[in-house]
Amino acid sequence: MYLQFNWDGTTGPCTLDWAKKVVVGNVKHEAVSDIWKGERLRHLQVAQLQGHRDKIDFCNDCSAPMVCCKDDLDDHAETILERITNLRGSGDGPNPWINSK
Ligand code: SF4
Repeated sequence: MYLQFNWDGTTGPCTLDWAKKVVVGNVKHEAVSDIWKGERLRHLQVAQLQGHRDKIDFCNDCSAPMVCCKDDLDDHAETILERITNLRGSGDGPNPWINSK
């Protein structure tokens, strides 16, 4: 839904990541629009939409999706995933967010 910018330019997808584990870019080196449209965020969105939140470090322990979001997109995940991948692809190579441990 949004991006969070830290003092050092690191950019995350949410306000909860004080540990900077879910970094999708750095505004000191990239334009915000490039981060927003970038592969790292897209990979994260794809992993979440595919139901892999439990395999993403930090996200796997986060309760925000259950307590902070009014919108539940689970019923629309397949449609959103299809639109994202049709528009921008699903990203090259294996999804770097998915922890295969
Ligand atoms: S699951 Fe939690 S930590 Fe991960 S992106 Fe969503 S709000 Fe942030």
